[in-house]
Amino acid sequence: MTVVVAGAGMAGLVAATRLRELGVAATVREKGTRPGGSMLLSSGVIWRHREWDDFRRECPGGDARLQRLIWDRLDDALEWLAAAGAVPVREETANPLTTGTRFDPAQLTRALVQNGGVEGSTPSAGGVPLHTSDAAILCSGGFAASPELVDRFVRPAARLRRRGNPWSTGDGLLHALERGAALTAGMDEFYGRNMPDAEWGEDDFVSRSQLYARFARIFDETGNEFFRREDVSWSETNVVQATAHRPEARAYYLLDEEAVRRQVRYGTVAELVAAAPAAARVRLEELPFDPPPGTREAVRVVAAITHTIGGLRVDDRARVLREDGSAIDGLYAAGVDAGGVATGGYASGLAHALVLGLVAAESAAAGE
Ligand SMILES: Cc1cc2nc3c(=O)[nH]c(=O)nc-3n(C[C@H](O)[C@H](O)[C@H](O)COP(=O)(O)OP(=O)(O)OC[C@H]3O[C@@H](n4cnc5c(N)ncnc54)[C@H](O)[C@@H]3O)c2cc1C
Repeated sequence: MTVVVAGAGMAGLVAATRLRELGVAATVREKGTRPGGSMLLSSGVIWRHREWDDFRRECPGGDARLQRLIWDRLDDALEWLAAAGAVPVREETANPLTTGTRFDPAQLTRALVQNGGVEGSTPSAGGVPLHTSDAAILCSGGFAASPELVDRFVRPAARLRRRGNPWSTGDGLLHALERGAALTAGMDEFYGRNMPDAEWGEDDFVSRSQLYARFARIFDETGNEFFRREDVSWSETNVVQATAHRPEARAYYLLDEEAVRRQVRYGTVAELVAAAPAAARVRLEELPFDPPPGTREAVRVVAAITHTIGGLRVDDRARVLREDGSAIDGLYAAGVDAGGVATGGYASGLAHALVLGLVAAESAAAGE
């Protein structure tokens, strides 16, 4: 038996490594010019909420069975990852609400490709056909890089800027839909960041993220204060999604003297503001509305999509399901392709990809 794995990002490389470990041949197909997908661009922190109740509270629209699977299996999965050659950089997440491990994404990718002995993962550019008579695990990373699908499901009439790999254009999703798959709740949700309104490249994805909305006053282009800082979630996903629904998917973060001195996870607010290119740091007299008294800095941000949250409906064996709940024979999904985990909030995409990648491989190997 050979199992086809579509996508050599986090979920695909994990699935292929696990298949090989179980004695099953895996053919990994990669559409991009390199393996690693968005995992390679990530901060490499694989985490779960410390408390199960927090996971449920923060992602209330998600499938509780999948959430529980990820929450229960993650700690063992991290040990498995280390045994597969990934070297932990730090055994903590810098967030008291969560627990997990930080890896160097480049080393993690190399380890899964080399030490995992993934066969056939040599990248080949161009479209990759997903039709196959073999069992297949869809790990193509969702549809964030398809403006058409983003417009259709996430935000009509707004082209969200991209903050993830360029190849995740919904191939897994479209393939499974053709075979009768059902979709999850939350197809209009996404994980992303508000980024300075200027050009950016892959190297800027992490360093330029403006992650201090909870200290800012947040206005849109028309001068409407559309989001209260008290309502900003710790992951800031809710303010990013709200920004996507404003004109031009744009917002202005206004900061007073006290706000710029606040400490955030990776430095001070002033340092994050300084990382924004000059084009996005708006002089107060050039704002399209009057700023509140005491405003010292104004940064124009745009909502950027890292990955989609809704996707294919799967069960706790990673089998792709039809609307009536039956499983499509030989079709599995893992990672972002499998939706409905973080619905309503945000959870670790790498943890999701790791655990479901393992589960999908185990199910495919058992012929379930
Ligand atoms: C800047 C940034 C920071 C992040 N930081 C974190 C973090 O610290 N912690 C965390 O948990 N998550 C983080 N993430 C999210 C995390 O990277 C993703 O959740 C994770 O990579 C998803 O894994 P995946 O396998 O589903 O998708 P990916 O890793 O993106 O892999 C998908 C792969 O499929 C390939 N593909 C697409 N279509 C096809 C096709 N038709 N055939 C074959 N291959 C195809 C793509 O080229 C890609 O290689 C971050 C992401 C970014 C961009």
